[in-house]
Amino acid sequence: MNEPRSVALTFDAEHPDRPWCPPGAAERILDVLAGAGIRATFFVQGRWAEAYPGTARRIADEGHLIGNHSHHHARMPLLLDRGLQEDMDAARDAIVRATGRDPRPWFRCPWGAGDEDPRVLAALAAAGYRHVGWHVEVEDWEPTRTPEAIAADAIEGIRRHGDGTVLLLHTWPGGTVDALPLVLEELLGGIRFITVDALAEVP
Ligand SMILES: [Zn+2]
Repeated sequence: MNEPRSVALTFDAEHPDRPWCPPGAAERILDVLAGAGIRATFFVQGRWAEAYPGTARRIADEGHLIGNHSHHHARMPLLLDRGLQEDMDAARDAIVRATGRDPRPWFRCPWGAGDEDPRVLAALAAAGYRHVGWHVEVEDWEPTRTPEAIAADAIEGIRRHGDGTVLLLHTWPGGTVDALPLVLEELLGGIRFITVDALAEVP
């Protein structure tokens, strides 16, 4: 039995891809993490950092690890070589401007699309990045999902995968905001929350 001892919470910080989301969700997630004394990893979309520089800055100031989540949130394999380069660079510039932090070497492709594409992976590597996927996702983006269902799936997924689980969450769904305290309440006793740079193996 591979008991989970350490878990990396990861949040994609990006423009919502649903028509309605509660305002201030990212801020409320940061409040919960700060209250629990936990550091997470945030993959920041460049255009989101331009739109919400104060929230992006807060992510950095509160000690969370920052990665690049592209600028336009396109499917990276559909971009030509030059487009890939421009998108990665535009995102990095926007993230550095907002947060003062260089997101390298951490990168997460939108939807994970490209994580098995040799051309995309080579472009990422040439720009100084390594891709970070995830072990467990809980469809927190689905508006019909209750916080209780999201939390139960997260806890079950972490226990199933075991030590070093990377959990994928998003900063904008209301369900995620309300699920997070339930997950922490269940796991905080026995589990150490780490950032992806402290993982033995990056998925
Ligand atoms: Zn995304």
